[in-house]
Amino acid sequence: MSKNYLNFINGEWVSARTNKTFEVINPATREVVGTVPLGGKEDAQDAIEAAKKAFPEWSALSPFKRARYLNGIYQKMVSRKEELAQLITAENGKPLEEAIGEVLYAASFVQWYAEEAKRVYGDTLPSSSGRKRLLTIKQPVGVVGAITPWNFPSAMITRKIAPALAAGCTVVIKPAEQTPLSAVAIFKIFEEVSLPRGVANLVCGDPIEVGTELSTHINVSKVTFTGSTEVGKIIYRNASDTVKRISLELGGHAPFIVFEDANLKSAAKALLSNKYMNAGQTCICTNRVYVQESVIDEFTKIFINEMQKLSVGYGIDEGVNVGPLIDMQAIEKVAKHVDDAVSKGATLMIGGKQLTEGNLKRGFFYSPTLLTNTTEDMLVNREETFGPVTSFMSFKTEEEVLSRANNTSFGLAAYFFTNDVNRVTRISESLEYGIIGINDSQPSVAEAPFGGFKQSGLEKEGGYQGLEAFLETKYLSMRLS
Ligand code: NAP
Repeated sequence: MSKNYLNFINGEWVSARTNKTFEVINPATREVVGTVPLGGKEDAQDAIEAAKKAFPEWSALSPFKRARYLNGIYQKMVSRKEELAQLITAENGKPLEEAIGEVLYAASFVQWYAEEAKRVYGDTLPSSSGRKRLLTIKQPVGVVGAITPWNFPSAMITRKIAPALAAGCTVVIKPAEQTPLSAVAIFKIFEEVSLPRGVANLVCGDPIEVGTELSTHINVSKVTFTGSTEVGKIIYRNASDTVKRISLELGGHAPFIVFEDANLKSAAKALLSNKYMNAGQTCICTNRVYVQESVIDEFTKIFINEMQKLSVGYGIDEGVNVGPLIDMQAIEKVAKHVDDAVSKGATLMIGGKQLTEGNLKRGFFYSPTLLTNTTEDMLVNREETFGPVTSFMSFKTEEEVLSRANNTSFGLAAYFFTNDVNRVTRISESLEYGIIGINDSQPSVAEAPFGGFKQSGLEKEGGYQGLEAFLETKYLSMRLS
């Protein structure tokens, strides 16, 4: 049943100043699941003002007290994991079990930063002068503007808000227009734990108006963005005029390398779970699979066998492990990549079509697809497909595959499978990516730094590094009399 939702500014649930709204669609059924305010420039300004007003008190609060709020949020998220997951499945489409996994992953950032809040250490520095004492202290950067994507409606929010609040910053967040309902649900929890007014503000709305305000306003000290590289570049330019601190978590194009000495069965299982999670709509999901020539036939057979286990359907139905894509544009992009590959000589082994049979015709479903004999000039091996398409290529030598894997402007995640410890060292050190999965296709956890090299982004989220991104280092020089 469709419901009306509101923005949360200065501790109040409010409509957009213009009273305009927009609808949120279930991508499995195209039904309207909710209506949210279409916030604009003025709503963003109200929220920034509220965050600015709340900053002195929140930043002065003991980190132990800030941690108590975060712990309260963590407890409520975990105890309501089913309810929050239902919302994710309704607005994003991912299978319910995967959505529950996302809620727990989202909550793990809140728990981690509740602990990290107490570990913001400064330094004492040996001085070259006996009459001076030198120190550094860490302080929150100020008001944070946060902009998030639709593919992890809950986790991309907590991965930003939790460290920002732990550091003592106040926040204004704009979630993606396809998935604002999970954001509203998280803010209801903020209200329930009595987070002081203005500390966290939610503005659903127009991406350009709200996004521009958050990335240009003089009172926003830091902007943190997760989304496409294309929009990330706009945010980077916007933020330059006021020299804002900036974190960018952008697109990827992950290579997945299978060496001939790898355990092929576990590599195939790992590839399946990495590639078809969220129907291939994750920033760290595999885009190019390189398999050593001597084992490619065997690996292909094993992988096809694994692919037979996939079941496409509504995320709320039991046994479904691949849901719909987010919208029709996503279907069109995937179809374009598959057609381009086939027209250039790739072999379509499985899938390769939009699914419109039975009740799937109402949503945006695309069949899990395997392309073999692909080449690097094909779109599927150059751009983010963001869909359930796997592309296989073969290689002969380690040197060759490294050069091909690194030949991209993206640098988020890369994976390789081998049982040779010397190769592990060589390849890990040579891949130009921020996250390396070694016989592991699920590397993302709250306690480790997540972020890309090259045009995949700036700064890290997760780990102690994720907290550093919301802190300034202040140097104190004290002369003794
Ligand atoms: P997107 O189109 O770049 O949108 C991301 C956010 O930016 C949304 O909230 C969007 O608002 C907003 N936005 C759009 N245009 C804007 C503008 N001109 N100014 C300010 N804000 C603007 O990305 P997406 O399609 O939601 O997400 C998929 C992308 O995110 C993929 O490239 C994926 O790889 C990347 N991603 C990266 C990571 C990571 O950690 N590196 C994690 C997840 C996803 P609207 O929704 O209202 O348009």
